Amino acid sequence: MERTNLRKIAVLDKHTIDKIAAGEVVERPSSVVKELVENSIDAGATAVTVEIADGGKKLIRITDNGGGIEASQVPTAFLSHATSKIEKPDDLNSIHTLGFRGEALAAISSVSRLDIFSRERGALSGAKLHLEGGVPETVEDAGCPEGTSVIVRDLFYNTPARLKFMKRDSAEATAIAGLVGHLALSHPEVSFKLIKDGTQTLLTPGDGALRSAIYASLGREFTLSLLEVKGADGDMGVTGFGTSPIASRGTRGMQTFFVNGRLVKSQLLTAALEEAYSNRMMKGKFPGCVLLVELPRDMVDVNVHPAKTIVKFVGEKRVFDLVYHAVMAALDKREEDERPQPKPASQVQNPRGDFFANMTSQQYRESQRAAEK
Ligand code: ADP
Ligand code: MG
Repeated sequence: MERTNLRKIAVLDKHTIDKIAAGEVVERPSSVVKELVENSIDAGATAVTVEIADGGKKLIRITDNGGGIEASQVPTAFLSHATSKIEKPDDLNSIHTLGFRGEALAAISSVSRLDIFSRERGALSGAKLHLEGGVPETVEDAGCPEGTSVIVRDLFYNTPARLKFMKRDSAEATAIAGLVGHLALSHPEVSFKLIKDGTQTLLTPGDGALRSAIYASLGREFTLSLLEVKGADGDMGVTGFGTSPIASRGTRGMQTFFVNGRLVKSQLLTAALEEAYSNRMMKGKFPGCVLLVELPRDMVDVNVHPAKTIVKFVGEKRVFDLVYHAVMAALDKREEDERPQPKPASQVQNPRGDFFANMTSQQYRESQRAAEK
């Protein structure tokens, strides 16, 4: 067959490389938010504010109170493969931060108009830098607070093909809200604020308690239905909450799993959870959960997908059993707690009065419903 491509072989220039990388790292506005918030968390921030306009297409602003970037290093952070998180191949085996490829800032800046303000902790002043399609202007002094603020405007303005794939503003905003909610759950020690087109839609306290983060991001009703899950097997552990069987739902939408702090989708974890509920739940109903699984790093392969949401386990059976038994134990304990304990006659006073005083009509209806199942 005749060769159709007669071009010479050449190494790609920096901007082409960054734009290709951008296609992998930056798929839509929520991927920008994810990368930037993970940088904030990696920088030790205890408070992170995410502001978006028009679903993040017009504006994404991430402000943190983390360690900041030293002024002379600000341009370096935007070079591809520039990272402060690993130095040598060995470090890949002991990564404790969320990002490490050193690609995000380079990629995001190559497909947007970006401003960064950063002041290192303890420094007298900060620095600001503007990049247009990845091309940096000069760094200037800036009187900004300690920490970092990254402002991304007009995402994909120079990649029209990508722009066309964006969903409606409301769909992109929903994806961002979901993402920030999940980040808040995996980092209860960080206070997250989300401001959507000028309106604050999420604020978590950052008090370190998972239950408070769940309350703030998933709501009161979900929080009231929770049973605590806790289990361990050697160096593997699982903590978090599952919903009470009577609070089951019609979809798997309220199942959230983290493995070593990362939000993951895993059929194995879903199956372990649902297997534990199987005898107590109607067909077509699904439990909700927020479960945090901690595994030795060599049991987890998170490098299977650039967005790192799909995860593979070494020793699948052990992981399944860990989650299954921990959830099962939480469900058994709840039933144990709820079984009426016979009291010595001397302590029984006005049982009927007790009964009604301790139950709201809602709880009463729910317990009736549970009894009917
Ligand atoms: P990576 O996170 O993989 O190292 P990035 O391109 O996301 O790569 O960031 C490059 C570097 O810029 C980081 O390693 C870090 O040193 C610095 N940096 C980025 N964002 C922040 C931030 N919010 N606070 C402090 N330093 C940051
Ligand atoms: Mg990063």
